Amino acid sequence: MLLTVLGCSGSVPGPNAASSGYLLEAEGFLLGVELGSGTLAALQAVRDPFTLDALLFSHLHADHCADFASLAVLRRYHPNPTRDPRAHRLPVHAPKAAPTRFAAAYATDADELAVTDLSDVFDFRPLAVTTFHIGPFEVTATTAAHPCDAYSFRIDHGGRSLVYTGDTGTCAAVTALAGGADVLLAEASWTHGAHTSADLHLSGREAGELAATAAAGRLLVTHVPPWTDRAAVLAEAAAAFDGEVALVRQGAAYEI
Ligand SMILES: [Zn+2]
Ligand SMILES: [Zn+2]
Repeated sequence: MLLTVLGCSGSVPGPNAASSGYLLEAEGFLLGVELGSGTLAALQAVRDPFTLDALLFSHLHADHCADFASLAVLRRYHPNPTRDPRAHRLPVHAPKAAPTRFAAAYATDADELAVTDLSDVFDFRPLAVTTFHIGPFEVTATTAAHPCDAYSFRIDHGGRSLVYTGDTGTCAAVTALAGGADVLLAEASWTHGAHTSADLHLSGREAGELAATAAAGRLLVTHVPPWTDRAAVLAEAAAAFDGEVALVRQGAAYEI
C-alpha cells in the first residue's frame, strides 16, 4: 500500500497547510481517506480527481470533510470528466449522517437544501463497527472516543496493515484495533497535560504510548494543529515509543 498525505494540519488548516486528507493506493485502486479544507486542491496537484475509486471518512467534523461540497461541484459540473460521474457514482463510506451533512454544506439556503440530493454522483454507504471491503482493502472500523459519530480504521492489504486513529482520545477499542499494526497513523493534537479533556484527542505522549502498547512497526504522527508545537509533540511520541517515529508531511508518500 502507498499512503500519500494530501493534508495533515489538525483541527484547522494552517499557513499553506491543508487539513486532514490521505490517499491509499494498492492494485491500481485509489482510496481517498478524509477530505478536509485544502485537500481537493492538493489532490488535483497529484491526481485526476475522477480517478478516485472510493472515499472513506472517520467522522464529519469540518477539518475532515470540508472539501466534500467542492468535490460535489466538480463531479456535477466538470465539462470533461475522465470518468462519467453519474454512470460511476463514487462510493462514500462515512457516518450515517453524511448525506444530510454534505447536502447542508452544499446548499445555500433552506429552499435549496430541501431539494438537494447528492446521490446522483455519490453512493453513500453508512459505516458500522464491522469489517468490510473497499476494492482490494479489508477495512475494520471501530468506535473512536470523540464527541460525535466517529471511527478509527484498520486497513489490511497483502499481509500489511495500516491503522488510522482518526480523531480520538485514548480508549480500549482503538488500542485493540492498533495491535500489531505495521504502521500506526495516529493523531496528536496537543502536548501532554496541555488539555485535560478525555474522549477528544491524543497528546504526543499518548500517541507514542498507543504505538508502544500496540507493538506497532512504525508510528506516523498527524493532525497537529497550527497552534501546537510540532517538535514537542514529536519528542513526546518518540520518548514513549522505541520504534521509528515521524511527523507526516503534506505531499509526502509512505510505503506501508
Ligand atoms: Zn480533526
Ligand atoms: Zn474531530
